Amino acid sequence: MTDTDPVIRLLETARGNPIDEPFRVTGVMMQYYHVCKRELWFESRNLEIDRENPTVVRGTRVDDTAYGEKRRNLHLGMIALDLLEDGRIVEVKPSSALTEPARMQLLYYLWYLEHVAEIQKDGVLAHPRERKRESVELTDERTEKVENAIRGIHDVVAQETPPSAKEKSFCDSCAYYDFCWC
Ligand code: SF4
Repeated sequence: MTDTDPVIRLLETARGNPIDEPFRVTGVMMQYYHVCKRELWFESRNLEIDRENPTVVRGTRVDDTAYGEKRRNLHLGMIALDLLEDGRIVEVKPSSALTEPARMQLLYYLWYLEHVAEIQKDGVLAHPRERKRESVELTDERTEKVENAIRGIHDVVAQETPPSAKEKSFCDSCAYYDFCWC
């Protein structure tokens, strides 16, 4: 396996440059890295389970309907995001449970736009049902945090076996519950 920095590999992959071992990180992977590394590993293996109800309960799934303002969906390589009419990137979650993973997902979108497409945007993290929203900007410190998380994601998905299960308050609403606790 190459010892090239995973951040460089991701950027080369995203720019469509030839690379021996492409490396991709989606917004969901960034979110799961901060929720549960075992869940990230399962996700990286494309283990598909009906996850409608669990993630809604846990408040980690993108809400496709709840938002008062118009937004457009944008696909750019590894990421798919929502753009508001005022130009900000919005990440909508049904609840403010697990705010840090949602914030990191949004920061990853801002990082990706800046580093892959040279587009600088601000973001807003919205919880319409709770009438809460938070402005999110990509600072130098947060850029470093995103890049360290990309390296951490690489370490997790490169493992041949999943990280061990560690019980969390939301495990019973996780799509992979049966793989951990049954
Ligand atoms: S059940 Fe808990 S430990 Fe297992 S993948 Fe889900 S969140 Fe992680």
